[in-house]
Amino acid sequence: MPRKSFRYGGDRIEYEVVFKPAKQRRLAIHVHPDGFVQVDAPEERDLPTIHRAVLKRARWIKRHVDESRRQRAQALPRNYKSGESLFYLGRRYQLKVKQQNGQESRVKLTRGQICVETPSRDPYLIKERLAAWYRSRAADTFERRLSVIADRITWLKMMPDWRIVRMQKQWGSCSPAGVILLNPHLVKASRDCVDYVICHELCHLQEHNHSPRYYRLLGQVMPGWEAVKTRLDSMAEILLNE
Ligand SMILES: [Zn+2]
Repeated sequence: MPRKSFRYGGDRIEYEVVFKPAKQRRLAIHVHPDGFVQVDAPEERDLPTIHRAVLKRARWIKRHVDESRRQRAQALPRNYKSGESLFYLGRRYQLKVKQQNGQESRVKLTRGQICVETPSRDPYLIKERLAAWYRSRAADTFERRLSVIADRITWLKMMPDWRIVRMQKQWGSCSPAGVILLNPHLVKASRDCVDYVICHELCHLQEHNHSPRYYRLLGQVMPGWEAVKTRLDSMAEILLNE
């Protein structure tokens, strides 16, 4: 996927062009919550034409990139109050805390919102409840993606052992005994980021290092992983923040 950039208001803004089948006639520009700019273009369109079209919308893009930066900065100190930003599978949601009588607290995902129905507004309890919710979403998502990806890898003869483990600075790891550990915070990132971490760890089953051989293998299992890793790295601070 070609990467290009332009200058606007003292900023250099990078974007990535993703070619789509020709039935999409128009250019579509998306600014992801992490500030990543994606330009979907019809297959036959050439890069200079695309670049000119992107420049025409430079002001709009800059405004959205700034907005995502502002939102990310805002999201850092968490108080677990309504209105705060939460991430789930690469999308931004607004936390809604709804005080409700009853014993149990519940977490519900609705359009644009993660709603915690709770008998108490105690931030610590809300934090714990959300952590449990993320963990169960992570268990589902990782299981599904692991089996899809493991099926595609011919040298992998069986589904590896894996577990969910909270880690401070890592998305995943692979033990010498071949057990894959995945960080529940990873479910806050987009699916391709989840896939990247799974592919990274699965390749360690074959190569327990980061040698050129390892990276060749990773390139076969997940072509284009570098761009996905860059995006995941740029979000690390916010996604690992509880
Ligand atoms: Zn590694």
